[in-house]
Amino acid sequence: MLSTENKVNLLNLSRSEMESFFTDLGEKGFRAPQVFKWIYQQGVDDFDAMTNLSKNLRAKLKEIAEIRTPKIIMQQCSEEDGTHKWVLQVDSGNHIEMVFIPGQGRGTLCVSSQIGCALACSFCSTAQQGFNRNLTTAEIIGQLWVAGRALGLDPKGQRIISNVVMMGMGEPLLNFDNVVKAMDLMMDDFSYGLSKRRVTLSTAGVVPALDRLQQVSDVSLAVSLHAPNDALRNELVPLNRKYPIKALLLACKRYVGDDRRRVTFEYVMLEGVNDSVQHAFELVKLLKNVPAKVNLIPFNPFPSTQYQCSSQEVINQFRDILMQNDLVTITRKTRGDDIDAACGQLVGKVMDRTKRNKQKAVMTVSGIY
Ligand code: SAH
Repeated sequence: MLSTENKVNLLNLSRSEMESFFTDLGEKGFRAPQVFKWIYQQGVDDFDAMTNLSKNLRAKLKEIAEIRTPKIIMQQCSEEDGTHKWVLQVDSGNHIEMVFIPGQGRGTLCVSSQIGCALACSFCSTAQQGFNRNLTTAEIIGQLWVAGRALGLDPKGQRIISNVVMMGMGEPLLNFDNVVKAMDLMMDDFSYGLSKRRVTLSTAGVVPALDRLQQVSDVSLAVSLHAPNDALRNELVPLNRKYPIKALLLACKRYVGDDRRRVTFEYVMLEGVNDSVQHAFELVKLLKNVPAKVNLIPFNPFPSTQYQCSSQEVINQFRDILMQNDLVTITRKTRGDDIDAACGQLVGKVMDRTKRNKQKAVMTVSGIY
């Protein structure tokens, strides 16, 4: 059962809200960090397991509160690189996807912020799906909870999820309040305690919301740039017509301020569209006075797309031009390609399972929860 009547889902509460929740019940505020630890650090969703709470309080909590997380309905693991993808059910009709990417000494969870997306970027398969609704704070932080429980601890007892990127489905800045609250929860010492450097919000460039973010948060910033001029970016990222590149770059500078952190600019490599030598030089010029690093993303094709990925040779040439001109550039490896978990492929619906079975991925339909 996903929905329950009128109970407070504790995953929707910030720490101070949870403190008020307990003081309203006549309890001490320190119940909040205690319960935080149970939920987020121990992965508990059963009040009876919270043994440092009195029996009476546990009974009361069962009556009025719940710990309701998204439910895993499918999980896949890439044989190629260990990338995991989960399809999660958030309400009776909606699914989202979440991806875990293991790396050297780190593990990155790619989290969704909306069901679908309203931005209609021409090269992104989530866009095909249109927009359904914003995720709640509980549905966002609940993704970490679900992945943490599914992945467990590594052999040294360390948490496997060391980094979070808000790069799944949706535009996080268009779900501002819930996303900020969920990111604050990720960074809370009594919860996952991630540092601001290890939480990255990726945006297509909602300029006013970026300024608002600067006021209330300090997470790392990634911007989906994808084109070095407005004419081309208008085509690829229609939001650019509202907030053109110049305004976006100024907002990026305001965001980092005097901090020495750089903004990551994502640039998807589309054959014959944005990948020429001239585009590379244009990008160098554009980012000259911006504290930037560039992440070149090989385009991941999907069935109805008009685009193709640039060749490795072209990507390398593009990268070399940027690097020769002092732009720190990383070419992102395509991950989880065999399970459609790569960028832009998070279509958030249960895939045709028969078709899936024919592929290399190992798939298990989970009955854990
Ligand atoms: N709306 C936010 C969050 C999504 S992040 C944003 O635009 O930043 C997902 C990243 O993957 C973005 O940089 C997006 O532009 C990129 N992406 C989308 N579709 C892709 C595709 N088919 N191949 C490669 N990258 C893609």
